[in-house]
This record gives sequence, C-alpha cells and structure tokens, in this order.
Amino acid sequence: MATDYDDVRPEVADTRNASLEALKSANAPDARSVVSELEETDTAEGIELPGADLSGEELTVVVVPRMEDEFICQSCFLVRHRSQIAEVRDGLAYCIECEG
Ligand SMILES: [Zn+2]
Repeated sequence: MATDYDDVRPEVADTRNASLEALKSANAPDARSVVSELEETDTAEGIELPGADLSGEELTVVVVPRMEDEFICQSCFLVRHRSQIAEVRDGLAYCIECEG
C-alpha cells in the first residue's frame, strides 16, 4: 500500500510539470503567431486606407490659421478677438487685459 502511494505522488508531480511545460511550449508559438498576424493586418490596412485620410485631416486642422478677426496676444499667448487688441508693437499684438 505504502509503495503504491509513493508511486502515485511522483507520477502526479510529473504530470503537472509535463502539462505546464506543454502549455508553455504550446502557448509561446501561438501567441507569437497571433500577434504577428494582427500586426500584419493592422499595418496593411491601417497605412493604406484610414491612416492616410486621418493624417491628411490632422495636417489640415494644424495648418488652418487662426481666424482673420482673431489674434494671439504676445504676452499671455491666448487667442483673442481683434476688438481686444490694446497695442501692437513691432507687429506683435497685445490684448487689453495685458496692456490695460
Ligand atoms: Zn494678453
């Protein structure tokens, strides 16, 4: 009886270790293959279609200058309406709050 218990314990331990090793060795390749597939899909579709459109829109938004009836105060650097220009020195405008 005692011999049987001694035999079972190592077998259980070996089975657990073997299953863990099997999971590790099996998971690594699967995860890598899945990641590589996702990256390939994102790269192929992302750059060609939506990527170009988004970058164009972003550039347009950045390039669009401020409204002609607005100015940037060179003291507080806030965009303000022309009616709030208090003084212009060397082509640089200052708002009434900074100059007032
Ligand atoms: Zn100001």
